[in-house]
Amino acid sequence: MTIAEALREATQTLARVSDTPRLDAELLMAHTFGISRSTLLLKRMRDDVPAAFAALIARRSAHEPVAYITGRQDFWTLTLKVTPAVLIPRADSETLIEAAISALTERPPARILDLGTGSGALLLAALAQWRDARGVGIDASDAALAIAQSNASTLGFGDRARMLPGDWRQPGWWDALPAPFDLIVCNPPYVETTAMLAPQVMEHEPHCALFAGEDGLDDYRILIPALPALLAPEGIAILEIGAGQREDVAALATASGFAVDCRQDLAGHDRALILRPGRP
Ligand code: GLN
Repeated sequence: MTIAEALREATQTLARVSDTPRLDAELLMAHTFGISRSTLLLKRMRDDVPAAFAALIARRSAHEPVAYITGRQDFWTLTLKVTPAVLIPRADSETLIEAAISALTERPPARILDLGTGSGALLLAALAQWRDARGVGIDASDAALAIAQSNASTLGFGDRARMLPGDWRQPGWWDALPAPFDLIVCNPPYVETTAMLAPQVMEHEPHCALFAGEDGLDDYRILIPALPALLAPEGIAILEIGAGQREDVAALATASGFAVDCRQDLAGHDRALILRPGRP
């Protein structure tokens, strides 16, 4: 069997479980060879590959996400290490980085905070964008922090990124943070606890990074009132929101004195809320 034939067959198999079966098959084939997807074209089939590839296709067919199988996920300009301890960075979340770039064209941020950093995706993407900036990522999960720290070191941000334990469900959680910050980014859990998510999310990704109470707003209720104390006077905070949450989260932000803007993701969904301290 050639690589092209194996990919065709795997694509058909994965169409049952994936919206991107061809991409998944190519990523898993490249992973089997230990090369990048873009160099796959140059390869010839090798005797040991079909069995190893079939094992990966079987895992994907049981809904395991490609990123957990390969241990890698591209985000912004970076390739991040991921494990089931962290949410897989979504392309949708790149909307937050785009929103930050648009909002901060004239004042590059020097101090950045990422609340619930997970793999470190948002913080490290921001540090890749602003080469003179330094940043702090916090997370309640030690296992996530270890991944974030490893990504920071591997990608060369070790001296500009600090990953610290922090759990905003505990009182006084922000006391130890080196405020103020010019830019705060945050992709909190925001899924309603009763929501039915796809099996590849539900059965594999960390629930603590997804679910936020009956209406999905629990974490915003804690986080937003703390933001004024963490932000510099000209600073901005950018929060990811779920589809349909714009009005509710904007109302919380307005109640804490913020002026609010929104940016849509590539699918046209409201995705990033941009909060600026209101002027008295
Ligand atoms: N966008 C994610 C999903 O749909 C949810 C991420 C989150 O809760 N922060 O699975």
